[in-house]
Amino acid sequence: AANVALPRESDELATSGAEGVGLFRSEFLFLHQDTLPDEETQFQAYRKLLLAANNHRVVVRTLDIGGDKEVPALDLEKEQNPFLGYRAIRICLNRTDLFLVQLRALLRAAQYGALRIMFPMISSVDELRNAKQVLREARDLLDAEGVDYNPNVKVGIMVEIPVAAVCADVLAQEADFFSIGTNDLIQYSCAVDRINEKISYLYRPLHPGVLRLIAMTAKAANENGIECGVCGEMAGTPGMASVLCGLGVTNLSMSASAIPAAKADLAAHSYAECRELANSLLGAASAEDAENIFAEWREDAK
Ligand code: PEP
Ligand code: MG
Repeated sequence: AANVALPRESDELATSGAEGVGLFRSEFLFLHQDTLPDEETQFQAYRKLLLAANNHRVVVRTLDIGGDKEVPALDLEKEQNPFLGYRAIRICLNRTDLFLVQLRALLRAAQYGALRIMFPMISSVDELRNAKQVLREARDLLDAEGVDYNPNVKVGIMVEIPVAAVCADVLAQEADFFSIGTNDLIQYSCAVDRINEKISYLYRPLHPGVLRLIAMTAKAANENGIECGVCGEMAGTPGMASVLCGLGVTNLSMSASAIPAAKADLAAHSYAECRELANSLLGAASAEDAENIFAEWREDAK
């Protein structure tokens, strides 16, 4: 599947070989403008995306602002640790007025295709329950007003905070699907600011600790009969499709331009080979050892 943020990217869906949208970064409807998009504007945008996806699944992530993404219309205070601060679902659960507008638009748009709702930055089952409660309120409001919507929308979460990965067995009982956000999962688990170039050498997707968190999440999903995807940059990094598949991940979403190479990567290896690779990476002593194992494997696969 493809990751989509900018409108231009949904125009590329048909030609990229993508089977749907695994991550729509809905916050892009909110950035760089002085007013917030109203329900109708959002409804039209989600509907357009569903029509472009041609009956394939579209996973819309609810508003993930804060961190490095500023929304001028919200006038949020500057924080000392924005990535650890007031952002994403934390804002939505506090500003349910905003959240309700988005959820209403999503429920209405879901009549036009296979839309799924995904909550970002979930750190506990309480947050998931609270978010689902607001979703119920959105449905009640639409019911009361007699507005048409699709009541059967699957609701999943991004697993991108290490405690969510560790407690994935609990979360899997109440989420319809998982999508691992490796960009943030690596940032938080390795304690490395993802946009600070001075320490980018510590940002290691193949750190065995990161791989163990991914494997744990996928195992919990599998045992509870739900899908576990990856929608961070790692999914589209050359060769990583095999690694993630071997770790138990069942869906991948990436920038459209990375899809052909990822498909070729998966087609060139059996599932047993992917598992063997993943097991040796999980057993590596360090990120460097794992990177060497991975590089050798890539060399042999040529
Ligand atoms: C992620 O954290 O991996 C992710 C996909 O979300 P974003 O990059 O938008 O934080
Ligand atoms: Mg993220």
